[in-house]
Amino acid sequence: MADNDPQGFYEALGVKSSATAEDIKSAYRKLAKETHPDTSQNASSEKFHRISAAYEILSDPLRRAEYDSSAYQASEQEAGTRVIDPICCSRCGQATAQPRYVVFYRVYSFIIMTTRRPVQGIFCAKCAKKEGLKSSIITLFTGWWGVPGGPLYSIGSILRNGFGGKHDRSADEGMIWYNALAFLSRGNLQLSYALAMRSIKASDKNIASDAAELVAQLERAGADPRQGKLRDPWRTSILCGASHLFMAFALPGALALAIFADTQGSSVRTSYAGSGLYSSTQYRPSTQTGISKPRVPTCTSAPYSGQLLGANQLSATEGHSLEIRNGSSGDAIIKVRAEPYGTVVAAFFVGSNQTGQITGIPDGRYTVQYAFGDALDISCRRFVQVAGAGQFPGVETLQTEQTTTQIITQVLSYTLYAVPNGNVSPQNISAQDFER
Ligand SMILES: [Zn+2]
Repeated sequence: MADNDPQGFYEALGVKSSATAEDIKSAYRKLAKETHPDTSQNASSEKFHRISAAYEILSDPLRRAEYDSSAYQASEQEAGTRVIDPICCSRCGQATAQPRYVVFYRVYSFIIMTTRRPVQGIFCAKCAKKEGLKSSIITLFTGWWGVPGGPLYSIGSILRNGFGGKHDRSADEGMIWYNALAFLSRGNLQLSYALAMRSIKASDKNIASDAAELVAQLERAGADPRQGKLRDPWRTSILCGASHLFMAFALPGALALAIFADTQGSSVRTSYAGSGLYSSTQYRPSTQTGISKPRVPTCTSAPYSGQLLGANQLSATEGHSLEIRNGSSGDAIIKVRAEPYGTVVAAFFVGSNQTGQITGIPDGRYTVQYAFGDALDISCRRFVQVAGAGQFPGVETLQTEQTTTQIITQVLSYTLYAVPNGNVSPQNISAQDFER
């Protein structure tokens, strides 16, 4: 097992520890298919569970960060008996005295959906600044083209990238202490001393007391307290902060322009071709087409937007939220399905030009499907005829984050929209697939 893979999770998925979130996802999908008891003859439930356990940690950026940084643990005893390598930056490969494990976000929006992809690893301050800038520039170009999540996520991510990315103080402190021991083992006492001085303030009491002891020992051995302070390479420079601020607030201006342009062009909207998406060219309520349909009894009291249809598996007290804005001219039914079996966790109604929200979705991995139609049948739970159905690309992982002071759940937001020149689109699915 490699040094930076303490429990062999990367090995289980057959990827390197530098793998991107997408690499990990596709490796998992492939292996899960090969080993799942329901889909494969070479099924191995032990292997399947191992893969699932690895994926559960590695697919969550913060848990992955915790896992990766947990690889760096050493004791003073080890530092006295063997040479320990200091931590290297995952980008430039150089040993770095004050590393951080940072998660940066890149936002990609495809008109009606917005995804936020983590780019993470152990960084030196220099590479972190480069990566933060790169992620923000990518977000600037690709992030805000989605309504309504795009601009919100983009602004949030750019500001966060600009001010050092998401990082965990206790993981940073753990790595600084590891390096203090590594430099001690290599005889670089002055640097070890400076790092130990920083570790005295660590929130982990064991680290703080070990560090205090090491500082005292090194002072007795002749370390110079006047040189005990390290420059902080992680301070955000004015130029760096300003460029990210500019990128973040260039977005609303550009968006305002786009909305202006959009209202100017709305008279030609019906000629837009939404490839695979529900759009006004693909489906019109039958009252407008003038084609009469056989009379079927229909729903007499329409549900409100956000009203659950039938059985659901939502929690009454906690969980994540899903918000759907239906910017189209047809009513929609939304289904939230839990992976990997596609069990319907919740189905709800969202009227044309309305927003519906549900809460109480438990932690898990989900796909979101939708269908349009003009009339609900007598049960008020499905359409008489599904005029079009689709599924948002990708699987969403919803995971409750717990900090010492609060529990953070997620809100997913999608918009169903007639799409001007749609080139990237949700996947079409059949009415049967939606109803199953
Ligand atoms: Zn670097």
